[in-house]
Amino acid sequence: MGYAEVSVNSPIAQRRTFSYAIPPGLSIDVGQAVWVPFGNRLLQGVVLELSDYPAVEEVREIAGVIEPHPILSPYQVPLACWISEHYLSPLFDAVALMLPPGFERKALTFIAVSAIPDDFDLSSLSREQRHTLGLVRRQGKVSLKELEKTLGQKKAQRIVSQLVKLGLATRSYEMEPIRARPKVESYLSLAVAAGKAREEATRLRERGAVRQAALLDFLARQSEPVSLAEARQKTKCNKTIVDALVGKGLVTVRQVEVKREPISYQSITLSSPLPLTVAQKSALARIQSSLLQKRDNNASSAAFLLHGVTGSGKTEIYLQALAEAVKRGKRGIVLVPEIALTPQTIEWFASRFPHRVAVLHSQLSLGERFDEWRRIRNGEFDVVIGPRSAIFAPQPDLGLIVIDEEHEWTYKQHDKSPRYHARDVAIKLAELTGAVVILGSATPDVETFYRAQQGDYQLLQLPERVTPSEGSPLPQVEVVDLREELKAGNRSLFSRSLSQAMTRAVAGGEQVILFLNRRGAATFIQCRNCGFVLRCRRCEVVLTHHPAEDVLVCHQCNYKVSVPQVCPQCLSRRIKFLGTGTQKLEQEAGYTFPQARLLRWDSDVTRGRGSHQARLNKFRAHEADVLIGTQMIAKGLDLPLVTLVGVINADIALNLPDFRAGEKTFQLLGQVAGRAGRGTLWGQVIIQTYAPEHYAIQAAAKHDYALFYNREITYRRQLHNPPFTQLACLVYSHTNDALCQRKAERMKRRLVAERDSRGVADLGIIGPAPAFIHRLRGRFRWQIILRGSELSAFLSQIPVPQGWTVDIEPISLV
Ligand code: ADP
Ligand code: ZN
Ligand code: ZN
Repeated sequence: MGYAEVSVNSPIAQRRTFSYAIPPGLSIDVGQAVWVPFGNRLLQGVVLELSDYPAVEEVREIAGVIEPHPILSPYQVPLACWISEHYLSPLFDAVALMLPPGFERKALTFIAVSAIPDDFDLSSLSREQRHTLGLVRRQGKVSLKELEKTLGQKKAQRIVSQLVKLGLATRSYEMEPIRARPKVESYLSLAVAAGKAREEATRLRERGAVRQAALLDFLARQSEPVSLAEARQKTKCNKTIVDALVGKGLVTVRQVEVKREPISYQSITLSSPLPLTVAQKSALARIQSSLLQKRDNNASSAAFLLHGVTGSGKTEIYLQALAEAVKRGKRGIVLVPEIALTPQTIEWFASRFPHRVAVLHSQLSLGERFDEWRRIRNGEFDVVIGPRSAIFAPQPDLGLIVIDEEHEWTYKQHDKSPRYHARDVAIKLAELTGAVVILGSATPDVETFYRAQQGDYQLLQLPERVTPSEGSPLPQVEVVDLREELKAGNRSLFSRSLSQAMTRAVAGGEQVILFLNRRGAATFIQCRNCGFVLRCRRCEVVLTHHPAEDVLVCHQCNYKVSVPQVCPQCLSRRIKFLGTGTQKLEQEAGYTFPQARLLRWDSDVTRGRGSHQARLNKFRAHEADVLIGTQMIAKGLDLPLVTLVGVINADIALNLPDFRAGEKTFQLLGQVAGRAGRGTLWGQVIIQTYAPEHYAIQAAAKHDYALFYNREITYRRQLHNPPFTQLACLVYSHTNDALCQRKAERMKRRLVAERDSRGVADLGIIGPAPAFIHRLRGRFRWQIILRGSELSAFLSQIPVPQGWTVDIEPISLV
């Protein structure tokens, strides 16, 4: 008899597997999804290992298989184990990342009749047992639910148990079916001859029914039925107009089931590979040679950091690398930071690999996602494009993984378990499959760049834009010192420079983006005169203002000071200056530039399906002159009419109480600046700040990544921050603040004791302190930060009680 180690879908299971015996006659593989008895319930599990001996003495049997074939591929099993170990997440949480959408469903129990022995005396059964047996035999197979409906739940279960015990019936299990409704579309055609339709059209036009007439004329020109969507687009008709014509007996509508196509190819034309620039060529050559190499499983990974300024043609390299992989019978996965903001990338792939591109995004229905998962597993796509979770797509023959804008924080799942980073998962996955990884960015994550410098990743650089517009290849950046504005008596949100540039751009029929990073806007206190910001003496991080007590708190070490009345640096009384929101900015812009048409774009106004795209389209169609927005607008937009980008207050990102604040600022400014001058027009960027001399701002203004990186990496080394150490963040949350603090202090003692007893050197335990976002959805939060190495191994020895979350390598400490 064989045994299986199963990851079970139960919160009690945590990071371990359970041993089950494989009943005779059942064939079980690694990666297979099974039903297993767990306590008094039947749960889903996935087999992670087979063995000849059970890990414990008493084992129960696997109840049945969920699907005849393994659901996890051979390389996904070790990947799930690695995620659970590294991020300290429950094992099934890690497994679940790779399961088909909608997999986590209940079991339905079915009853069937076994062959009844000839000598069995049926009259020994009770009337109800006989009745049930007869019913099941007539139907072949009956669901337990069905029996419960007629007999009542308790009685049905009792009778079935009795019949099974007597060997007369057997149970089997199936999942509740997914109800995926087929997608249908309306198709229109003429109900009359084309000549007649044209006559009717003329008559209708005379009576003023212009749009009805237009639709009739349009249909008269078609040789085949036309989809309602297309008719709408071409003739501006709508449902009412169609109904009117149907009512007159001129048009018929048929519902046709359509194959789901995630991309509309109507507007996409085929494209062929572009002739590459010298820099692109040499970068691609190295990727290609790496794709040719045979890498055995578990060999070192082939990862590239493609560092190229915005507009340097990174996408073209992704496309041609993928073409190379496809030529070798391989497939790819491309991760993008946010699918809604990358329509252009998707179009590029669709135009190069028509009908061979799968796009995974959250707006697909469950049925659609399931369909897509199955088609991916069948090998129907050359490439899967999606957000971080697409790294778990069951793409067979994986040869290439691309992570575009690899520095983006959306690649880290920070709000639920497993708290994985898609970049690190990709590197692991590449190790397991032999795939090549390309990490692309104009402003690489400092840690990624450090690894490239260390030789862990191969560094490829594209230092120039492909088509530099005449004059300056990258937009010109002006840094405005807000202290000087105040000295000159200008108290508005717009510096004189920005004001003039805006007026000029709008008058010239060009477009402007105003950028305001609102996150954490009202939490730090800044001197409006000299720009001074209070920092913690111990941690160097910016102190956070807690309005309730009106104190400043270091959310790392809990150091507190009262808010000073005068600025410690310049003695000005104008120390209490808090941030500005986008709404206030919109108001002031309306007042200052009455001639400009404004459009606000932030998460408040873009909730709901399609509203991102709607706003963007509006701006692109030049229905507004000025776009006002938060970090969303910084990403990947190609807007040729935008010649001016104004950053209202660069210090907001700079003063986040986090060691990554400088990096975040540099990246944001770099991306924002990349929005200007994308077309043939000249681009200009104006950055307003109280800290014009800060290296992140200086480097962003000069488009100088090396300048930024060299300073940043020095600070990281000095202050023992990543990549020179590893961090973990433990957060306890509860509705009672005092209880939070007590629990956090107890945990700290526990951690310190463990560290000392095990003699772990170099392990810093910082805090506890109230979290930066101290209260979230009615719960208070306290945190402890660990700083050291091999933190997963250290923490895996310590039981983490309920109420705690553990984040290994948190993306930020705020
Ligand atoms: P990045 O992703 O590096 O910001 P893109 O991939 O968006 O840059 O490229 C910028 C523009 O340059 C795109 O319009 C792209 O089509 C074009 N492009 C890229 N490579 C070439 C090339 N070799 N020749 C001509 N145009 C190119
Ligand atoms: Zn001051
Ligand atoms: Zn501190």
